[in-house]
This record gives sequence, structure tokens and C-alpha cells, in this order.
Amino acid sequence: MSDVERVLAETGDKAGLDVMGIPVSISDRMEKTMGSFVFKEKDGKVKAHEFKFSARLLSGEFDEEIVKNVIIHEYAHFYANVTSGKNNGHNAVFKNVCRSLGIPEDTLFTAPGTRVIRKKGYKLVCSSCGETVAVRRHRDAAVDIVKYKISGCCEAKIKAMTGYF
Ligand SMILES: [Zn+2]
Ligand SMILES: [Zn+2]
Repeated sequence: MSDVERVLAETGDKAGLDVMGIPVSISDRMEKTMGSFVFKEKDGKVKAHEFKFSARLLSGEFDEEIVKNVIIHEYAHFYANVTSGKNNGHNAVFKNVCRSLGIPEDTLFTAPGTRVIRKKGYKLVCSSCGETVAVRRHRDAAVDIVKYKISGCCEAKIKAMTGYF
């Protein structure tokens, strides 16, 4: 059993919905998307097709914790969609599942077009609309922006969020 399968199996055990029989494939053509849960939606049911992960995710380039979070993130899509019978995307249902599985609710680098970022840092967001204003690696730089700048979009205060960006 691969590490990916082991994480999926363990998460399935914990959540009470196993992934048995669902194929796991590793793609070396996935670059921006690090993982995906492929399924079909039909008659109020979701049929799991496969879990797909980028070879890059498993290349050793990323922290173990990040890799695990991406795998569990895809499990969360599986869980949310199969239990509700529909595609929840990254909505509140999905976020609830993330919380119960103990992973961040944000999409890490799974969303298409998202930059692959793997360092811990500060994301600076507009307090009014939530738009990302900037990302800074260092606390001091983030604090300066929060203190002295306003967002270009809404001319509102900027707040900092910490995590992997
Ligand atoms: Zn996702
Ligand atoms: Zn704004």
C-alpha cells in the first residue's frame, strides 16, 4: 500500500466512510492541481471514480504535513459529496468536513491556477471583500502592511492570516 493509500484508508477509518475500491492514480501531468477527487453525479448520488494526485506532490519537495493535508482535502471532497449525494465544491458543507478531519478549510494549492506555495507565511486580505492583497513570508513585513496600508479594492483595513500560502 502506498503512503497515499494509507492516509486515505486511515482517514476513512476515522471518518467512518472508507475508500475501498476507489482507484488512486498518480499523474506527472498535473502541475497546478496537486490532487483531485473524480466522481460522477447522478440521480442524487455521487459515484466515486478515482483519486488523482500530482507526482510533484509526492516528490519529496513538500513538507509531509502539506502532503497529508492535500490527501485529506481530497478525501473531504469524497466524504462531502458522497454523503450528501451532490457536488459541494468548497462550500460550507465541505468546510465542515475539513474541520472535523482537522485540516485547514482553505484550498491549499488544489485550486486550478493557484500558485504552488509551500512556505509558511502571512496572507494579507481585504477586511471588506476578502480579496488577497499580498503574501509575505515575514511577520514584520505583514505587520507593516496591516498597520499602514489599506486595500486597493475597497480602501478598507487589511487583515493578516497565517498559514501556508
Ligand atoms: Zn478542493
Ligand atoms: Zn476589498
